Amino acid sequence: MTRKLGNTRLVIATHNAGKLKEIAALLAPYGVDCVSAGELGLPEPEETGTTFVENALLKAHAAAKAANLPALADDSGLSVVALDGRPGVYTADWAERQWFEGPAGRDWFMAMGKVEGLLCEQGADVDRSCWFSCVLAIAWPDGEEAVYDGRSNGTITWPPRGKMGFGYDPIFVPEGHDMTFAELAPDDKHKISHRANAFAKLVAEQFAG
Ligand code: IMP
Repeated sequence: MTRKLGNTRLVIATHNAGKLKEIAALLAPYGVDCVSAGELGLPEPEETGTTFVENALLKAHAAAKAANLPALADDSGLSVVALDGRPGVYTADWAERQWFEGPAGRDWFMAMGKVEGLLCEQGADVDRSCWFSCVLAIAWPDGEEAVYDGRSNGTITWPPRGKMGFGYDPIFVPEGHDMTFAELAPDDKHKISHRANAFAKLVAEQFAG
């Protein structure tokens, strides 16, 4: 049987402000006492895994060990059918500024442009279908772990639209909708997103009954 979080304090093992905001909002109804990895001054581990599950577990275990508290980590990304599932686990890396001098950091407009550029190379009638994946991993300081996954299907649109959300939200139109994730109100994104989908499984096991 999977271990339960109970009333202990939970570390949200992410340094991504967008994810932190969404996870905090999703956890809010359950009254969990949360603290972020940033607030605890925990280092950001290198994501050396080749799957979302490996990377989510790696981040959760690193934070649980360092903080001596249970930790929840998210690994997520965008997969595009016509790009053979890329960028996938390298979704964040596609936003790294590498080839010109300037402030370090991530450039999401550049990353979205890279996706669109590669799709355009395949012609006007290229298949624009894609999906977001999310894996949520919980790790306890003694090494026990639990994993929950979620997925949201959609299509890539261009140009980017909307100012809400984060990352690739402005070019992702979820299935059954006309608006991008960045145009949807946060509460509406939380009803259908890959993260909400994974979260529903976590809630069913961790907080139900
Ligand atoms: P990682 O999980 O830290 O490797 O980063 C995954 C990357 O995927 C994020 O930095 C975002 O760019 C992207 N991503 C994950 N979830 C979402 C989402 O809900 N909206 C937009 N982009 C996302």
